[in-house]
Amino acid sequence: MEEEVATPIEAEQYRKMLNEKIEKLLSQPEEEILEWRIVDIEIPEKARLFNSIQCTLCGEKTSEGHARIKDGKPVCRPCAGEYTRGW
Ligand SMILES: [Zn+2]
Repeated sequence: MEEEVATPIEAEQYRKMLNEKIEKLLSQPEEEILEWRIVDIEIPEKARLFNSIQCTLCGEKTSEGHARIKDGKPVCRPCAGEYTRGW
């Protein structure tokens, strides 16, 4: 029942970044605001790289970065025989 959030640290950094942007937005002229909005659009695109993948063996969802390919099918790390140790 291990459900991994792909990037908890990045989510936190993203939140901080947004807060900083909002503060900047409030002190910038309108043309600058337009520029900041364009930057904001790129961030969700990047976040989409971290897709959730469903293990074909046990059905557990795992983040794309943690998925492994076994017999040509995506599986989670335990099913791939890869256990994390010493965390
Ligand atoms: Zn699995």
